[in-house]
Amino acid sequence: MDKHTDLLVVGAGVLGLATAFVAHERGQTVRVVDSDERPVGSSIQNFGHACFTGQADDAQDVADRARAGWLRSATAAGFWAGQPGTYIPAMTEAEAQVLHELAAHRGPGQVTLLSGRAVGEALGHPDLGALSGAHLPRDMRVDPREAVPRLARWLAGEGVHLAWRTHVTAVGDGVVSTNRGEYTADQVVVCPGFGLDRLYPEIAERHGVRSSTLVMQLIDRPAAVPADLAMLTGTSLTRYDAFTAMPSAASLRAEIAEREPDLVRHTANLMVTGLADSLLVGDSHDYSQSPEPFIDEDVSALLLDRATTYLGIAAPRVRQRWLGRYADSPSTNLVLEQPDPRTTVAVVTSGIGMTLSFGIAELALAGAPVPAR
Ligand SMILES: Cc1cc2nc3c(=O)[nH]c(=O)nc-3n(C[C@H](O)[C@H](O)[C@H](O)COP(=O)(O)OP(=O)(O)OC[C@H]3O[C@@H](n4cnc5c(N)ncnc54)[C@H](O)[C@@H]3O)c2cc1C
Repeated sequence: MDKHTDLLVVGAGVLGLATAFVAHERGQTVRVVDSDERPVGSSIQNFGHACFTGQADDAQDVADRARAGWLRSATAAGFWAGQPGTYIPAMTEAEAQVLHELAAHRGPGQVTLLSGRAVGEALGHPDLGALSGAHLPRDMRVDPREAVPRLARWLAGEGVHLAWRTHVTAVGDGVVSTNRGEYTADQVVVCPGFGLDRLYPEIAERHGVRSSTLVMQLIDRPAAVPADLAMLTGTSLTRYDAFTAMPSAASLRAEIAEREPDLVRHTANLMVTGLADSLLVGDSHDYSQSPEPFIDEDVSALLLDRATTYLGIAAPRVRQRWLGRYADSPSTNLVLEQPDPRTTVAVVTSGIGMTLSFGIAELALAGAPVPAR
C-alpha cells in the first residue's frame, strides 16, 4: 500500500478499529496508526459490557447502530459477542422504583421487570434476597481481551494497513506526521482516547478532558455464576444516563449515600461481568490529568466484598488486579470535532466507549454534528 489512503485512523482502540471496520465495509482504503505494538489501552481493560439500554433517550439511535456494528464485526472477525442482556437486582425500594420507572418509560422490549427470586437465579445466587429486579435484553457482551485484538488481526488480513509502534505527532489537512514518516489521506479520523491532550491540548482543555482511573479485578468464576453474566447494581443506577433521568433517581442517590458511603466516596459503579472461567469485578473512579499508578488495596477489598456478596461467592480467588484508564469529561460524553475539513477528532469521554463506538464511528466518518448529551 502506498503512503496515501482514502481514510487514515489514528488509534487502534475500539473506536479507531470500529471506524476502520465501517470504512472497510464501504470499500474504502484504510490505514490505522497506533503508538503501541498491539491494543493495550482502555479497550482491553474494561468489562466488555455493551449497555445500550442504559444510555440516554437521545443516544438510542447511536446505540442501535452500535449494536448492529458489534454483531456484523463479530461475525466477520470471528470473536464472541453474546446477547445475554444485563441483570439488575433491586435490593431496596428506591432501586426497585427507578427500575420500575425505566420499564414504564422504555417498555418491555428494553426493560423486563423480574421477581427477586428470578433475578437471583439469573445471577446464580437464588438466595440473594433481592426485592425485585430487571433484565435489559438488548445489552450485549464481548470479551475485551479478545474482541479488539481479533478485530485488528482480521482487518489486517483484509488489507487494512496497521502501522503499529508509530506515534502521530501532528495532523492537518490530510497530512499525518509520525515518528516513522508522513502519510496522507483524503480523510483522517483521530481516536487517541486518553491521549487526546497530547495531540489536541486546546480541544481537551475546552471540554475539561482528564483521565478516569478504575480499580479492577479478575477472579475465578464459580460454576453457578453464568459465563456471559452482566450485572449492574444500585450504584450503576446513579451513573448511566437512562437511569439518572428517572424521577426517583435523586432519592435513590440520597439513599445510597447513606447506606453505602464507602462506595460513594470512591465513586463506585459496582458491577460484574463473566468470562469463560473468570469474572471481571469493578469499579471505582478517580479523576486526574496525570493519575497515580498505585492500586489502593482498601478500594480493591471493598469492591470485592460487595460484588461477591451479590453473587454468593464465599472465598474469591483474585487472579489479577489492574488500574483501568479512560478519557473523561465532566461536561460531555463525546468529543467530536473537525479541526479542519479533512480531520475529525473523536473521543468518548465517559465509560461507554465499548457500548457506542460502532455507532460513533458512523458519526465520525460523516463528520456529523454531535448529538446532545
Ligand atoms: C476499567 C474500565 C471499564 C470500562 N467498562 C466499560 C464498559 O463496561 N462498557 C463500555 O461501554 N465502556 C467501558 N469502558 C470505557 C471503554 O473502555 C472506553 O470508552 C473505550 O475503550 C475507548 O476506546 P478508544 O478506542 O477511544 O481508546 P483506547 O482503547 O485507549 O485506544 C486509543 C488508542 O490510541 C492510541 N494513541 C493515542 N495517541 C496516539 C498518537 N499520538 N499516535 C498514535 N496512536 C495514539 C493509543 O495507543 C491507543 O491504542 C471502560 C473503561 C475502563 C478503563
